[in-house]
Amino acid sequence: MIKGFRGTSLVDYPEKIASVIYTYGCNFRCPYCYNIELVLPEYYRKLPNIAEEEIISKLKERENFIQGVVITGGEPTIWGERLINFLEKLKTYLNHPIKLDTNGSNPELLGVLLSEDLIDFVALDLKTTPERYSELGGNFSKIAETLRVLQGYSDMIEIRITLYPPYIDRENIRDLVPYLQPFRMIALQKYLPEKNLSGKACKPYTEEEYLLIYEELKRHLPSATLIRRF
Ligand code: SF4
Repeated sequence: MIKGFRGTSLVDYPEKIASVIYTYGCNFRCPYCYNIELVLPEYYRKLPNIAEEEIISKLKERENFIQGVVITGGEPTIWGERLINFLEKLKTYLNHPIKLDTNGSNPELLGVLLSEDLIDFVALDLKTTPERYSELGGNFSKIAETLRVLQGYSDMIEIRITLYPPYIDRENIRDLVPYLQPFRMIALQKYLPEKNLSGKACKPYTEEEYLLIYEELKRHLPSATLIRRF
């Protein structure tokens, strides 16, 4: 399940120094994905597996230095029961809060992880408008269900939107507003064209275009904390 570990990160858990655990495999194929090594089998097959016990011992070594643990991927929720078991172990051996990054495709599992207190923070990547989710290999009805589940925990949720020009623009971002309304923390982030899954980089927005999209969303969600990562 695990193919990567970073001991210290200052950017993966809001306001915390965190260690990051990388699971492999993903059920989506976002053209702008830069985690190619963890998503495409021809790449991740070549990476060694890291035993859960090894991860736990690395985390124990850093226990006094880190303030949180992040589980990211790939898409961690594709691991189902195995992820549940691993989180139970982390909660037994460590006192730190755990953040999970997800594409939102597994509402049932997220509901279990939250109701069983196995995770303390969720970053959900909302990728495009409902109509276009199938282009990524996703099903928006699952994402909508996930958003319903997460509403009950809105203080622990950050919704992230990558401003990838073919999928999100100043007009269609309004289609996401009804789904975003229950959430306080919404981050708009840059699309990085350097390396991506499609192999074809599209031109990113200019700073001015990023700002116009931000202002459009702010106009529709005046009480949300819109975080600018551009
Ligand atoms: S961006 Fe995330 S959800 Fe999309 S393919 Fe990459 S790992 Fe999967």
